[in-house]
Amino acid sequence: MLLEKIKPLFDFETLPKPVYIGNGLTHQDIISVSQFDTARLDYIFARAHEMREMVERVGAVDLLKGRVLACLFYEPSTRTSASFIAAMERLGGAVIPITQGVQFSSVSKGETLADTIRTLEQYADVIVLRHPEIGSAQVAADYANVPVINAGDGAGEHPTQALLDLFTIKEELGRLDGLKIAMVGDLRYGRTVHSLTRLLLQYKVSLRFVSPEILRLPLTLMNEVIDARLDVRETHDVADVIENADVLYVTRVQKERFTDLAQYEEVKDQYEITPELMAKAKSKMIVMHPLPRVGEIHYAVDADPRAAYFRQVKNGMYIRMALLAAVLGKA
Ligand code: ASP
Repeated sequence: MLLEKIKPLFDFETLPKPVYIGNGLTHQDIISVSQFDTARLDYIFARAHEMREMVERVGAVDLLKGRVLACLFYEPSTRTSASFIAAMERLGGAVIPITQGVQFSSVSKGETLADTIRTLEQYADVIVLRHPEIGSAQVAADYANVPVINAGDGAGEHPTQALLDLFTIKEELGRLDGLKIAMVGDLRYGRTVHSLTRLLLQYKVSLRFVSPEILRLPLTLMNEVIDARLDVRETHDVADVIENADVLYVTRVQKERFTDLAQYEEVKDQYEITPELMAKAKSKMIVMHPLPRVGEIHYAVDADPRAAYFRQVKNGMYIRMALLAAVLGKA
């Protein structure tokens, strides 16, 4: 008689897929938007919603009590640094802020990024880094044993800004597919444009890129857009896009990235969104800006309900709360 085949304890083929705490983000570095597929985006957006409800109801909770965030900023920041700090504090965690004062840290004594990171990880459970060089966040992540979150690496990426931008569009307009999104300004050096464009490639959107000739979207990124087979056009003139746009994403010309300041002077005042221009736009469109603005949106536009940039700022805190909770395994 043949012995009965020993049955495996589990049929691995039919077992449900593991559900990861934080949707696979636990202990992960956040370096690029390429880490976010639509499932992961939906996950973060759902958590951000919960964070908003929680903040509106009780202000703060103890979810990250006992956890420490090191905020290391080698470039100026108002919103990104403040929102990460607020996010951590509203979740009951603590922050080591090296934000406005890198010049007072050992960086000014010539300490390398690697050594600074290896020091901070002795104190902190997660490190948020802003640095002027493209690729610096990945370098830091290679050295660190704790998760590193990219808060802007030069003209490279700004993934957390792109998450909050996408979240804002969805919150304000209720969808992403089918929208016409126009990006205006410095598309060459604007890292927020680079990250947001990459995220948008996962949706059925139409893209309009409005910039001076020298500030057009980098070719590699434009090729990614073309490969995604989206409806895309470039122009130098906001008037070409204002009537049909659902989202007008306005950006600052990134003075700090220019080697020739005369060139910056030539293009810095090319665009200004005014009430007159807004009169031509759809009644349901939104104007966004990662801020700071330095003249690209007239102050008179602020009173227009379509001006979404300060609501966008608030969304940044909820998104960063969701992200910190996920990375630290407290979904
Ligand atoms: N705050 C954004 C950034 O850090 C946009 C800007 O600075 O123009 O990239």
